[in-house]
Amino acid sequence: MDDGKSVLTDADVLVVGERIEAVGRQLDVPEGTVEIDATGGIIMPGMVDTHRHMWQTAMRGYGADWTLTQYFVWNYLEHGKKFRPEDIHAGNLASAIESIEAGVTTTVDWSHGLQTIDHAEAAVDALQAVPGRFVLAYGNIHAGPWEWSTQPEFRAFVDRRFTGDDMLGFQLAFDVTGDPAFPERPAFEVARELGAPVTTHAGVWGATNNDSVQLMYDHGFMTPQTVYVHAATLSADSYHRIAATGGTVSVSTESEQSCGQGYPPTWILRSHDIPVALSVDTSVWWSADLFSAMRSTLGADRAREHLEAHAKGETITHCHLRADQAVEWATRGGARALGLDEKIGSLEVGKKADVVLLKNDDSPVMFPILNPYGHVVFQAQRADVHTVIVDGRVVKHNHRLVGVDLAPARRAIEATVEYLQGALGAEAWQQGMNPDIPQTKVLDNPYTYTDYRSAATHQASG
Ligand SMILES: [Zn+2]
Repeated sequence: MDDGKSVLTDADVLVVGERIEAVGRQLDVPEGTVEIDATGGIIMPGMVDTHRHMWQTAMRGYGADWTLTQYFVWNYLEHGKKFRPEDIHAGNLASAIESIEAGVTTTVDWSHGLQTIDHAEAAVDALQAVPGRFVLAYGNIHAGPWEWSTQPEFRAFVDRRFTGDDMLGFQLAFDVTGDPAFPERPAFEVARELGAPVTTHAGVWGATNNDSVQLMYDHGFMTPQTVYVHAATLSADSYHRIAATGGTVSVSTESEQSCGQGYPPTWILRSHDIPVALSVDTSVWWSADLFSAMRSTLGADRAREHLEAHAKGETITHCHLRADQAVEWATRGGARALGLDEKIGSLEVGKKADVVLLKNDDSPVMFPILNPYGHVVFQAQRADVHTVIVDGRVVKHNHRLVGVDLAPARRAIEATVEYLQGALGAEAWQQGMNPDIPQTKVLDNPYTYTDYRSAATHQASG
């Protein structure tokens, strides 16, 4: 994933300490170098997830049939407040392990359930218990950002836990409601003072819209460090403002497709030349592997391109968006969004060694490898992640985590689920997972004489 998107065959990557020392064929290596045989595989940079509500991993899969409205009601209005510090810890721990296991070497924890500093400590403790690269995006949906961000204990927490180490970054996470009084100003000022980027859900149907973007712009708070999550329902004017100020959009295609924030926007972001990064949003619905994110993003972009053309009676014969671009968004795009592009995002000499080896000798899908970018996006899956190196440390090898114990993480999740089931009660728990289905009307069909069902009934009866 260098500037030339070079693909080298029969090549080696040499890691010394925490850095990439050399990339190429027939490398001279220091004595005692451990060799990992990558024959038949693909070595790629570690992937970067720029927006994930990691605490919600304790509710994995629970909201598979939710819309955004149901998510808001469950988490924001009804039950999100029930999460104790240990529940935040449990979700973050499982999610962090899931990241490195899937080759996502850097993950932004969009942590908007931090009702108290104890919750925040628990979130960071969990991230630091796992040998991945993380960014805590501090947020709290239960109070205004102008409230929590200006408390002395918040500042003390930031000073205590964030020391500039590139294994643990820091952002402020809050949304701009569009209130013309712009009450979010103090939170933006705190971010500016701390030198911390702001990440914000912007362009979410029914929640945040062009007013939010314009307020940020008019008050001078749109910067190249700003990350706009979803940005799926904005006007051309808002996209121009984002492009002109240099921020990145974090696209969560699987989320946008199910929840209704708006159509996954890469097709329009491309036309505005807005930098893109990928994210998975939350494991309440989706797994947190970026193969799914790349695949769904490439598919959604192409689907939109075809649809737009069909509406004009035209045919797309050449797709604009290519597989290599999706891989770039999942690696360098994320690194750039986080201001880490000098350090991670590509396999280049001098960069931090965040390296993923895709290799699976037992899989019929790992041969032939003809088009490596296409293979990563449309063929590979998380089970093909053979080895993962973060900051020069092997954290997964031969398909097994190294030095990470899954058992305590599983026990913590079980305890949280048991507690939440008790706190909600059996009925609310079941109901929350199974929202009502609106009535569907099957269209009248003029071809009733071929109705196979009634034909089958007649035969059966007689
Ligand atoms: Zn989100």
